[in-house]
Amino acid sequence: MSKYILSLDQGTTSSRVILFDHEQNIVRGLKGEELIEQREFTQIYPSEGWVEHDPMEIYSSQYNVMIDLLTKSNIKAQDIAAIGITNQRETTILWDRNTGLPVYNAIVWQCRRTSAIVDALKNDGLGDYITKTTGLIPDAYFSGTKIKWILDNVAGVRERAEAGDVLFGTVDTWLIWKLSGGMGRVPAHVTDYTNASRTMIFDIHKLDWDDRLLDALGIPRAILPQVKPSGSVFASANIQGVEIPIAGNAGDQQAALFGQCCFEKGEAKCTYGTGCFLLMNTGYDAVVSRNGLLTTVAAGFNEKVQYALEGSVFSGGAVIQWLRDEMRMITGSEDSEYYAAKVADTGGLYIVPAFTGLGAPYWDMYARGCIIGITRGTKRNHIIRASLESIAYQVMDLLCAMEKETGIKMTELKVDGGASINKFLMQFQSDICGSSIVRPVINETTALGAACLAGITVGFWKDKDEVKTSWLRDVVFNSQMDIPLRERLVNGWHKAVERSRNWAE
Ligand code: ADP
Repeated sequence: MSKYILSLDQGTTSSRVILFDHEQNIVRGLKGEELIEQREFTQIYPSEGWVEHDPMEIYSSQYNVMIDLLTKSNIKAQDIAAIGITNQRETTILWDRNTGLPVYNAIVWQCRRTSAIVDALKNDGLGDYITKTTGLIPDAYFSGTKIKWILDNVAGVRERAEAGDVLFGTVDTWLIWKLSGGMGRVPAHVTDYTNASRTMIFDIHKLDWDDRLLDALGIPRAILPQVKPSGSVFASANIQGVEIPIAGNAGDQQAALFGQCCFEKGEAKCTYGTGCFLLMNTGYDAVVSRNGLLTTVAAGFNEKVQYALEGSVFSGGAVIQWLRDEMRMITGSEDSEYYAAKVADTGGLYIVPAFTGLGAPYWDMYARGCIIGITRGTKRNHIIRASLESIAYQVMDLLCAMEKETGIKMTELKVDGGASINKFLMQFQSDICGSSIVRPVINETTALGAACLAGITVGFWKDKDEVKTSWLRDVVFNSQMDIPLRERLVNGWHKAVERSRNWAE
């Protein structure tokens, strides 16, 4: 029997790959180190606010790390039961189905070039329809307007698309098409519900592309991939002469929700990276938010789909990078924990890191960062502590918004991502929310989620329950703060947020 699942984790700045064994351990190298192969690729900034990637470089970096990992681990393709894929979401690629060549660079989720197209949709009265149908707030992040931009602006592409020669895909679709083609095989043109739910042209209730939105954006249906549950056999990849099923596929945040075993309604996870992403499983109900949270499809199998609510903090770990790179108050991100713990509190100081405005639940694009409550006694350590606390306050605001929407009190939050290793931050998160914060042994939950989807699909693991038995807690942080203090601190935070709002002209 095959012994491993191969997980491809295609992110915004790098392509990574990890092998998991049956106990969900990351395969280790000769010196006992966890083998995680990673390769960064070029970020292309053609003009202010525009971001692109080269799709061929995305594919080659992903393929090469996969081969490197197999070589380093000395694991043969025959020993791999299945491949799972997880990816940066919303990034948009169009390519020629005959030549396999992209017709333009990938337009990355961060790219703002299509803001005017979004405004036009809203002016045409489609704003509410978009939210009701796709679960999203109309925005340039999502793929729909990016597809239109390529069709409208790259010479000849619209005609070729209408003739059936051009295909669209998010990054998962592109990778599967490349991996399943070649050697005379017909490549698969497929995606999964979670990735489709980030395109702003997919009806998350009917689970089909939406004709009204396709019409509004002038997108021919023929360019769109077939959509399947996240745990399905999408295609097979020929690796070193062996056919391996690609049996799991989910966008990064939904993969992390799955990798954290948040299978039941009310279970939630937060990923603390540059930004923070909080997702809560809302079961079979697609909860439509009135507080600016997004409704999205959760990863699953060929069953009734589950939904999730999603909220994001724009500047999470980014505030620590700012302390390090711009303020030069620390030399490494990890130093923040040491200095924050040197003071008993911030001395009434708050930092609101609204570097690029504030997301849910405030949605204020004109907010800008502020440091408030400075006294003659304010020291560097207070600023460092307030920076870490600001991450926790922002996540708390999202958590409260979700509790309000769903009526579910979140007693436990699972965490992952680079900044979740900071014990001070996690303890403060627990204190300020009054919830338990649970960090698992495997921090690579995104890659693990994709692996679990693939592994269950091919029978490597029996079902979700079996997967859950291997999910192990590493540390649990329980709230130690008394309620009056929590209320006082939260009150101060909300006052500080008010001062940061509506600042930029
Ligand atoms: P991304 O996937 O967004 O690049 P990562 O999950 O790799 O993010 O996490 C990196 C982010 O976490 C950076 O913003 C960094 O400043 C922050 N970070 C990393 N380690 C720590 C730490 N020990 N304490 C606080 N923040 C940290």
